[in-house]
Amino acid sequence: MRRFRSGQRLLSASIVFLAVAGCSDIPLTDNPPNSAVPISRDSKFALLQQSCSTCVWAVHNPLYQAPDLSNSAAMESTIIVRATTSATGFQAITLEVTTSQIVECPAFAPDLAPIAFPCGQNAMLVSIDCLGDKTGANIECEYDLEIDNQTLVSYRAIATAVDATTMSSPLITYSYGEPGNGKAKPIWWHTGEADSLGYLDRIRIGYFPDPEYDPNNPLSGNKTYSAFADHVNEIVGRAFFNDDENFAAEYTANRHFFDLWAAPFGGKAPDICVNAYIYNINAKPARQLVSAGVIVHERYYADCSHIEFPPGDGTVYSGSSENGWLMVHESGHFLAGLSDEYDRNKHLSCSQPNNVHESEFDCHGVASLALVNAPTGACTQFPTSKMWRIDEKVDGIGLLEIMDKEIGQKKESSFQKSSRRALDILFGNCQYGNCYPVVNTCAGPTPPS
Ligand SMILES: [Zn+2]
Repeated sequence: MRRFRSGQRLLSASIVFLAVAGCSDIPLTDNPPNSAVPISRDSKFALLQQSCSTCVWAVHNPLYQAPDLSNSAAMESTIIVRATTSATGFQAITLEVTTSQIVECPAFAPDLAPIAFPCGQNAMLVSIDCLGDKTGANIECEYDLEIDNQTLVSYRAIATAVDATTMSSPLITYSYGEPGNGKAKPIWWHTGEADSLGYLDRIRIGYFPDPEYDPNNPLSGNKTYSAFADHVNEIVGRAFFNDDENFAAEYTANRHFFDLWAAPFGGKAPDICVNAYIYNINAKPARQLVSAGVIVHERYYADCSHIEFPPGDGTVYSGSSENGWLMVHESGHFLAGLSDEYDRNKHLSCSQPNNVHESEFDCHGVASLALVNAPTGACTQFPTSKMWRIDEKVDGIGLLEIMDKEIGQKKESSFQKSSRRALDILFGNCQYGNCYPVVNTCAGPTPPS
């Protein structure tokens, strides 16, 4: 387990017992959205730099785990808190942690029956003060807890600067352990602050284990759900909590628009690239809960995701050292409707705006959009597919586009020009209440990776 070098221990200051039925729903304020620029620090604990005079962030580590233990065995978790201020120090940094026992939810969402997400009972709230020197502009704390796989944890951090400005991190709920059939476990679930800042919608991604992780599958070898959980922890950490690598910057800066879930066995992707994802009765409730399903597989086959908007299904090859980059690239297809920006088959995008075009005229139309702002001369045609894309050159070198799988330096790639604009519009949609307000269908065939 990694530690902040300068971390201060959090000590329990007060314990309050609550009797809570149903899911927690505690309203609170959030850091202001947008203007988010990643700062450099340990990838696992990427914390966002935002345009607030007093900022506070909190992240749990590991993000997800499901060791092969009995239900009541303890698993270690650490919640890391960091606060910054433009004032001359802090009055207080407080971490509120609520633990509760997972129970069946009441049937408040009939269209999700059987309901996949967890509710908590016998909630216990612990309010912890961050001790140590508060006179500086930065303070970091961490809090260790042990939970079993029936525990639901919700946390938020609140910072008050000496000038009395107060900021709160979003209320995040998580849980460890393998979800039961028909259920899902939250990895990164915003459960409280949605309405206070108009974050009315989020992109919900569910991670499903390929059958190869199922010990009951004769082809699984010695794999278990635990190995899948470790891979998901790695993929999610690299894609959404990563300030060190350029490809993750867009998702890391906008991770408050994502809820991430772990799903049980029962999902399967086609090994060949056809539109034939399967979710059986065990996995279907979790798939219905999320906007997009991701089949995680360690056995190699070429990743293949639908180009869809609204979102669909995709795969991520967990055995790759670039699995975080693959997650971001593939999700460009199945979350944003982006097409591949390399010369392969003829696949139209259905993103807004499109990033691949049938005509030079269409490409010029997107290039000239104010917030794309590319010279029309940057529109180039693929020799084989005859499709068009924006390929702006800076000093004769093309920009490293994430949707171009054939580039080198993948870790340095990012969403550029039209694909960046499509992501920005998507996140803006979420902020204003509906991530996917336009029903759009991609008529093209399923693309290769
Ligand atoms: Zn692709």
